[in-house]
Amino acid sequence: MLAQELIARKRDGAELGSEDLRRFLIDYGSGQVPDYQMSAFLMAVLFKGMSAAELSTLTRSIIESGEQLDFKSDGGPPAVDKHSTGGVGDKVSLILAPLLAEYGLRVPMMSGRGLGHTGGTVDKLESIPGFRTDLELDEFQAVLADVGCAMIRQTPAIAPLDGRLYALRDVTGTVPSIPLISASIISKKVAEGIEALVLDVKYGSGAFKRNADQAALLAETMVELAESEGVRASALLTAMEQPLGKTVGNALEVRESVECLRGEGPADLREVTLALAVECVAAVEPDATPSDVRASLEAMLDDGRALARFSRLVARQGGNPDFIERTGLLPSAPLRLVWESPVDGIITRSDAYEIGVGTVELGAGRRRMEDAVDPAVGVELFARRGASVRRGEPIAEVHARTEEAAQAMILRLQAAYEFGEVPPEELPLVLRRVP
Ligand code: URA
Repeated sequence: MLAQELIARKRDGAELGSEDLRRFLIDYGSGQVPDYQMSAFLMAVLFKGMSAAELSTLTRSIIESGEQLDFKSDGGPPAVDKHSTGGVGDKVSLILAPLLAEYGLRVPMMSGRGLGHTGGTVDKLESIPGFRTDLELDEFQAVLADVGCAMIRQTPAIAPLDGRLYALRDVTGTVPSIPLISASIISKKVAEGIEALVLDVKYGSGAFKRNADQAALLAETMVELAESEGVRASALLTAMEQPLGKTVGNALEVRESVECLRGEGPADLREVTLALAVECVAAVEPDATPSDVRASLEAMLDDGRALARFSRLVARQGGNPDFIERTGLLPSAPLRLVWESPVDGIITRSDAYEIGVGTVELGAGRRRMEDAVDPAVGVELFARRGASVRRGEPIAEVHARTEEAAQAMILRLQAAYEFGEVPPEELPLVLRRVP
């Protein structure tokens, strides 16, 4: 079938045959279908969606475009991974991977960079002096065997077709399609060769799906797709109305992750991490009692075992773990500016999207794909939604390169925060599990 025929069929809502779709995708991979035809196809998918069979063909084609690892049948501990759909201040992976490794599971984690207003695990890890996220697959496997977890960036060896499709979606307004997001995420996780996957699907202002019903639909689609590919999967819908934890910005988030790995740190970050970690263990130890698993994991955070595992991971991936005891070794910004409460009152809004965009503007994220991120800049939040504050009380501290950048972030904070006299409705951190 001609590429233009296939595009027109999708445009008109017809279901594509598996062989036609597969051929079209392979031809795109080999350069025979140009970007403009693929862009038109992606836009047609955004409007018309995909059937389960089409989604499965797309996912399989992405998986088969690169190498596939297999940790399921090598006799080692169960291999699990967690994937978040993206949020502001979401540093859970840095805590969860060493924690689960300490528990006895294997965590081969391939993560992304920041996207839009959200941060990425790879950018955070790279703020640790010397830390390498660009390991070859054999080095990745060696670190995993030694430490129980390994954390790298997406390699072109795994699911290369997704890299090309993703870059095209990013510039054609076709990112927020549920089938396209699902195929992109699940193909990479299946190719990692894991046994079980837990998805952290964010909803709220700082998430790609603001609405909880849309987030639930995305979660259901991804869980079903992963299961159909032989990977046990579940999802938690978690709140992203305000940033997770108290810091946003790469090195600041690494510092906060260390606090959490030491059994300290903000309660919301610890709670979401533990909920996801318990879910990962349940996927591979279905007979374990969740409260016992949680108690073991909490003990590992509180007595320093999870932190010791993180230190081993950092050293094994080329980083200098001394920053764990001496956080002054992490990059720090030359300028700090405190923003104080303009009123006496209760914080009724601390908007994750505004704060996320503000930190991207500060330099913690990218304006264009080719930009480098500034590891040092970001914001520390001292008061959260629901807190009572006095006029003049510090609410946030901006870490910036220049006075001008710091002032721009203060404007974002002014737009992000609202104050009132009545406490806002409490939002559950974990809304529900899928299925
Ligand atoms: N993350 C991915 O890897 N792919 C998407 O499409 C969206 C988020």
